[in-house]
Amino acid sequence: MIYPKYGPGQLWEEVGEIITENGGEIHHNSNVVGLEFNSGEIVAIKVHDESTGELKRIEGDYFFSSMPVKDIINAFEGNLPADVIEVANGLIYRDFITVGLLLTKLKIKNETKLRTLNDLVSDNWIYIQERDVEMGRIQIFNNWSPYLVNDDSKVWISLEYFCNEGDKMWNLSDEKFKDFAINELEKINIIDGNDVIDNVVIRVQKTYPAYFGTYNKFDTIKDFVDQFENLFLIGRNGMHRYNNMDHSMLTAMTAVENIINNVKSKDNIWNINSEKEYQEEN
Ligand SMILES: Cc1cc2nc3c(=O)[nH]c(=O)nc-3n(C[C@H](O)[C@H](O)[C@H](O)COP(=O)(O)OP(=O)(O)OC[C@H]3O[C@@H](n4cnc5c(N)ncnc54)[C@H](O)[C@@H]3O)c2cc1C
Repeated sequence: MIYPKYGPGQLWEEVGEIITENGGEIHHNSNVVGLEFNSGEIVAIKVHDESTGELKRIEGDYFFSSMPVKDIINAFEGNLPADVIEVANGLIYRDFITVGLLLTKLKIKNETKLRTLNDLVSDNWIYIQERDVEMGRIQIFNNWSPYLVNDDSKVWISLEYFCNEGDKMWNLSDEKFKDFAINELEKINIIDGNDVIDNVVIRVQKTYPAYFGTYNKFDTIKDFVDQFENLFLIGRNGMHRYNNMDHSMLTAMTAVENIINNVKSKDNIWNINSEKEYQEEN
């Protein structure tokens, strides 16, 4: 298995370094909140710098967007066709909460023939089928890369919860959510709560673009955004498609190739991962 020593984010840290070394700029903690357009092209974006509160206007020749489709449509400044706004606002997302727990040990032990450090179970992730708990999956970071764990006598796991922003789980305080998660793991006999030594709760909005709501009218949006020759919707939420990392990168690479080869149609980008059967659980 080829896995970055410090996890998938390391790949993008490297890419970021190459961009800045070549004179590019990356603006972190900055939200695109506005798009200026005229007929057929995007002229500039408005960016809100969350650290300084400053609102910047940035012009460009080409614009690539991986922000959620619902958000980009609402960021267009000026009058948009009513049906485009209606379809965008009807798009549905599933949200996600992950609870990281640092433990001295797990109760479950390695029952495979694989030799593991401290007899830790050898799985990277475990899907939870028990109906009496809400958690969907457990990840064991030690098994992705030992470098993700400071002290290899400890175990870093994360529990994954699929929810909707604003629902009962989403609104629990971090403290209560952590207790709830630990209780669930005790219930299915994976840990003893006394072995937890640290924790973190992270809520992620719009992790899963859903194929219901107004998704069946998505062509309305596609036709609208495709009028702007210098705008490229790419990635997962950027295209409201259940793209994995490979698909997402491929959409970006195809967009760049289209520019280089003077291909005006965006069809080859929209066609990536267009088979509706793709159902990977991630
Ligand atoms: C729990 C989970 C597990 C997964 N596991 C896997 C896996 O094992 N393998 C795999 O291939 N894929 C996996 N995926 C899918 C993978 O994460 C996505 O396919 C990939 O991250 C999509 O890349 P992206 O660049 O389109 O979007 P993202 O990585 O989501 O990046 C979009 C970025 O845009 C930023 N943004 C949003 N709005 C704005 C705005 N208005 N202004 C500025 N920035 C904005 C966001 O903060 C984010 O940083 C998983 C996803 C989840 C949720």
